Amino acid sequence: MEITLKKGDITQLKVDAIVNAANTSLLGGGGVDGAIHQAAGPELLQECKTLNGCPTGMAKITKGYQLPASYVIHTVGPVWKGGNHKEAELLANAYAHSLKLAEKHQLKSVVFPNISTGVYAFPKEEAARIALQTVKAFANEQSSLEQVIFVCFDEENYKIYDQLIRELD
Ligand code: ADP
Repeated sequence: MEITLKKGDITQLKVDAIVNAANTSLLGGGGVDGAIHQAAGPELLQECKTLNGCPTGMAKITKGYQLPASYVIHTVGPVWKGGNHKEAELLANAYAHSLKLAEKHQLKSVVFPNISTGVYAFPKEEAARIALQTVKAFANEQSSLEQVIFVCFDEENYKIYDQLIRELD
């Protein structure tokens, strides 16, 4: 399994699945969630309405509709509340459950945004370490996943990931 880093807009990427940093309602929001719904079109919201939301740390899958990606994996990262509310564990769970769902659907390529590091205010460096560690721990021979991409929308996250990927290699 290859881990790669890109900068830019997740909605433009032609992969098997893009991961959405959603909220527990799964009914859309701002940030990356808003951009994904905007680009996918109203059918995405229609399908999301049938899912009855998603608890923090879990993930659910839908089709990608007008997106170049075939599927959207909606996961819910934790809101940062100072670090003593299981934030790290919940963020790791969000990545791990998204990967499990991708594998269950035999997907080969998945792209993650920097979950929880926008409005949810998770410190970026710690979030990046958790993201990379969780994905690396998941890589195994049986996995259908061939490529996991981290896409950074902001320069700060991009620099953090670039540095960490070098460190961990
Ligand atoms: P959260 O509520 O999980 O913090 P946000 O959407 O506010 O979610 O932010 C999560 C991350 O998504 C942030 O790092 C933000 O820069 C990034 N982001 C926002 N729009 C896009 C986009 N179109 N493509 C990729 N990443 C995006």
